[in-house]
Amino acid sequence: MNFVDQYQSKIFDSLNLGLIVVDANEKILLWNTWLEKHSGITSENAIGQTITNVFSDAPSSAFLSALRNTINYGLPAVLSNALHRSPLPLFSFDESFKKQMAIHQSITISPLVAEEVGHCCLIQVSDSSTSIRREKMLRSHSEVLKKDATTDSLTGLYNRRFFDEHYKISLGQAIRQKHPLSIFMVDIDYFKQYNDYYGHPAGDKVLMQVATTLKAQLSRSSDMLARYGGEEFVLILPNMSNDHGMQFAQKLISAVNQLAIPHLKSKANKTITISIGFSTYDPNQHREVSTLIDAADTALYKAKQQGRNQACFMPLDTLLSHRLQIQAD
Ligand code: GH3
Ligand code: MG
Ligand code: MG
Repeated sequence: MNFVDQYQSKIFDSLNLGLIVVDANEKILLWNTWLEKHSGITSENAIGQTITNVFSDAPSSAFLSALRNTINYGLPAVLSNALHRSPLPLFSFDESFKKQMAIHQSITISPLVAEEVGHCCLIQVSDSSTSIRREKMLRSHSEVLKKDATTDSLTGLYNRRFFDEHYKISLGQAIRQKHPLSIFMVDIDYFKQYNDYYGHPAGDKVLMQVATTLKAQLSRSSDMLARYGGEEFVLILPNMSNDHGMQFAQKLISAVNQLAIPHLKSKANKTITISIGFSTYDPNQHREVSTLIDAADTALYKAKQQGRNQACFMPLDTLLSHRLQIQAD
């Protein structure tokens, strides 16, 4: 007797899914067209054989034990693609690789009771390669979007938005781990004049060169550099001592000086220069932290006033007493 009548067979064969029915002895009763196509075994040859003998390569042991559980105990089983890539030796032609590739499968095994046959098992096999490919594509798209949202498109550095987030995290870490945190504000000197004289595209090129140069001075993975806006950059450096801070700022200044980019309209030098203001929050010393960026900014203002092409340090306490003094007055 045929397990399926003519109409059912047509429906089964039109499904984009493999259907196998085996009896309690694992003998195949149904083998649809999808399986013929992906196994290379015709339904005529498959029906009547056992599931272990029908393939030249045996099904995986996880598949066989799941099938036996369903047959013996009536327990349905699912073999997810995440754990079991290709339990059955099924293949499809991959256009991009131009060859037959193993199909990544999701398999559901369900107990079934059929008239005249008794207990049997329905095995449904679906090709999860497409959904895996789609998932991979979505993941890579979302990575690109995430990168776009945190990166400055001109310089490739982190943007202001990322800085704001990272600053909060770094501050939290400094407080918890009781280590100092330094902020350096870097600003290109007389950059408006540079743009006016050399043109905006040339100005963009300088921004890129300065960004690359500043980045090259960072050595620890915990250090970060971002474009703060316009021709301003900001650096966060955890765990840096005060003496070291000034040395580091000088290193940045001379690295930019060494680029020797002509700037005939600068009053600081004949080349592109930067000014730096920095400050340090030490959780072992300071209670107030909200003024750290302000302190670095005030230090930058001082460096500009003192002639540019130089660095200035503003201790947090000084800024605070400055403020308290103003409030008292
Ligand atoms: P100071 O030495 O006091 O910092 O003077 P400055 O001219 O550098 O400062 P100011 O704030 O007056 O001018 C900043 C200039 O930076 C003005 C603006 O045209 C330029 N700028 C900001 N963003 C960009 C950019 O993306 N590309 C270019 N080419 N120029 C930019
Ligand atoms: Mg500026
Ligand atoms: Mg400037």
